[in-house]
Amino acid sequence: MKRLRWVSSVLSILPTVVTVLAVSAQAHAQSALPRHTPYPGGVAVVKIGEADAPSSEVMFDGKRVLTLHQSGGWFALVGLALDTQPGKKILNIKTGESPPKPAYDTAFDVKPKAYPVQHLKISSRFMQPTADDLKRIEREQMVIDRAKKHWSDEAPSNLVLDLPAHGRLSARFGLRRVLNGEERSPHAGLDVAVGTGTPLRAAARGRVINTADYFYSGKTVFVDHGQGFITLYIHMSRIDVTEGDSVERGAVLGLSGATGRVTGPHLHWAVLLNGAYVDPELFLK
Ligand SMILES: [Zn+2]
Repeated sequence: MKRLRWVSSVLSILPTVVTVLAVSAQAHAQSALPRHTPYPGGVAVVKIGEADAPSSEVMFDGKRVLTLHQSGGWFALVGLALDTQPGKKILNIKTGESPPKPAYDTAFDVKPKAYPVQHLKISSRFMQPTADDLKRIEREQMVIDRAKKHWSDEAPSNLVLDLPAHGRLSARFGLRRVLNGEERSPHAGLDVAVGTGTPLRAAARGRVINTADYFYSGKTVFVDHGQGFITLYIHMSRIDVTEGDSVERGAVLGLSGATGRVTGPHLHWAVLLNGAYVDPELFLK
C-alpha cells in the first residue's frame, strides 16, 4: 500500500518533470548563437545590452540587423558581406525605451580572411550574355535585391540550420572564382553535390518569400526565417512551394537540378543576414 502510494505520487509529478525538460531543451535550442566570426563572409556577434534592457533597433550599413535576447544579454548578429573591408565598423542602436533615448553607436572590428581560388570553365552564353539576356538579368536583379532585403519582425525560431540535402560539399563558401580565366564574383554559397531530383528540405521553419526561374541561378526559392535571416535554394529542377507558404523545418521545397549557370547538377545553398551572404556552414550543427 505504501509503495503504491509512492508510485502514484511519482507518476503525478512526472508530467511536471517532462514539461520542465521540454521547456529547457527548447530554451537551449533557441540560445544557440553562431560563433563570433568577424571576417568577410562571417557573422559578428556583438553584445548590445544587458539582459534586462528593452529591445532595440540595430542598423549596420543602412540595413536592419537581427537581434537576439539571451540570459547573458542582448546580442546583434551582423552578417558581413565578402567584400567587407577589414577594420573598425559601427552599429547604430536605437533603444525601444519610452520616453525614447537618443540612438548610440557601438564599434566592432572586422579581420581579414583569405579564401582559396577556384578555376572553372563554363558555357560562353553565361560569360557573354546577349542584349536580351542582359535586359532579363537587369530586371531579375531588381527582384532578387528586393528579396535579399526582405525584413520581418518575428525573431527566427532557431539559428541552427539543417543542410537541405546530404551530399559531398563540392564548393565551399568564399572561393575566389576564375571563370574561363577571368576573375568573377566570389562563391557566396555552399555547393552540395546531389544529382537531379533529390528532395531539398527547408533548413529551418520559415516563410517562402520568392520563387522564380532566374537566368543565373535557375529555379530558386527564398525562405525567410525572420529578421533578415534568409536561406536560398538554387539551380532546382522543380519548385513545390509558392510565395507566402509557411514551411516547417525539413519540409520539401522541391527537387535539385542543373538550371541556370551551372557545370552540372548540384544544390547551391546560400544564407543571408542583413542582406549579406554569409558562410552557411557557420549555422550547421
Ligand atoms: Zn554554388
